[in-house]
Amino acid sequence: MPVTPDQQAEIDALRATPRQTLRAVSEGAEKHLYTAQPVLDHGFVRLIDYMGDDAAICQAARVSYGKGTKSVQNDEGLIRYLMRHWHSTPFEMCEIKLHVKLPVFVARQWIRHRTANVNEYSARYSILDREFYMPDPSQLAAQSTINNQGRGASLTPDESARVLDILKGDAAQTYDHYAEMIAEEGPDGTPKQGLARELARMNLPANIYTQWYWKVDLHNLFHFLRLRADAHAQYEIRVYADAICNIVADWVPAAYNAFADYRLGGAVLSAKGLACLQRMLKGEEVTQETSGMSKGEWREFESVLASS
Ligand SMILES: Cc1cc2nc3c(=O)[nH]c(=O)nc-3n(C[C@H](O)[C@H](O)[C@H](O)COP(=O)(O)OP(=O)(O)OC[C@H]3O[C@@H](n4cnc5c(N)ncnc54)[C@H](O)[C@@H]3O)c2cc1C
Repeated sequence: MPVTPDQQAEIDALRATPRQTLRAVSEGAEKHLYTAQPVLDHGFVRLIDYMGDDAAICQAARVSYGKGTKSVQNDEGLIRYLMRHWHSTPFEMCEIKLHVKLPVFVARQWIRHRTANVNEYSARYSILDREFYMPDPSQLAAQSTINNQGRGASLTPDESARVLDILKGDAAQTYDHYAEMIAEEGPDGTPKQGLARELARMNLPANIYTQWYWKVDLHNLFHFLRLRADAHAQYEIRVYADAICNIVADWVPAAYNAFADYRLGGAVLSAKGLACLQRMLKGEEVTQETSGMSKGEWREFESVLASS
């Protein structure tokens, strides 16, 4: 369950007590504050806090005293210019703090992004919940034959059912052992020592859920989203990145639109790629052999042109 009724009551109470402030407020972000967007079977992304809005990016770029806003159109143009020319520091003036509940194997990929601040749920201090990620059968696929880091054809229904049985059985067994190891009473009620939580957790599988608070500035968040909302990212982290994209699109719409245009939807060409494109525009037929590119580069170049 993404949030329990008690947690939902806390969220509702927080949303019921708005305060007046002199700080920049993004109406789009306010509507997300505290609410949990469900992700995967038990996970979520919750916006806990944010600093700044589209105007704050322009204010920083202009180093202005007041609001620094010229006009919406002017600000959008400036933000697009900053994004286009990789002027990143104005985007670092905005920050976002998220509460994320995610499987441990997704957390391992996520934590590689070092330019954020993280505080994770302590499984030394607290007992982990019996919550494991069980993929939807549509996500159960065979190893890709063309991409060592990806999935290929879907498993047959029989094979999917067998895999899910294994996953569920392993999760149940390891959690039962975990609970048994930390228990301070035996099955007959006699007291026993119980293993420390910090040790008992070691046999739990990587599909158990963890939680953290994650704070990052907008520039580094865009870097994260560029890599993790991409088709090459693993589905299980991509759905979190997609959920965050929805929040960011409402929080800083002009910055998000510029990011979606230049980074998410755009493509970077090498000097060789650019030269090939120029030759093609002049009517020349260019092939991989005459391009000066490797087979892999040519494949990616062709896919960029095909998707445009
Ligand atoms: C599709 C995909 C496949 C991947 N496969 C693998 C894999 O097989 N194995 C694996 O180990 N990882 C893998 N990764 C992780 C990847 O290599 C990066 O570690 C991860 O994406 C974080 O990127 P980053 O370092 O740019 O981000 P951040 O840590 O957020 O850093 C952002 C930027 O800050 C700078 N920076 C931050 N810290 C330092 C530092 N200490 N020194 C210098 N510059 C710094 C760099 O310019 C960096 O790009 C994969 C990632 C993706 C998206």
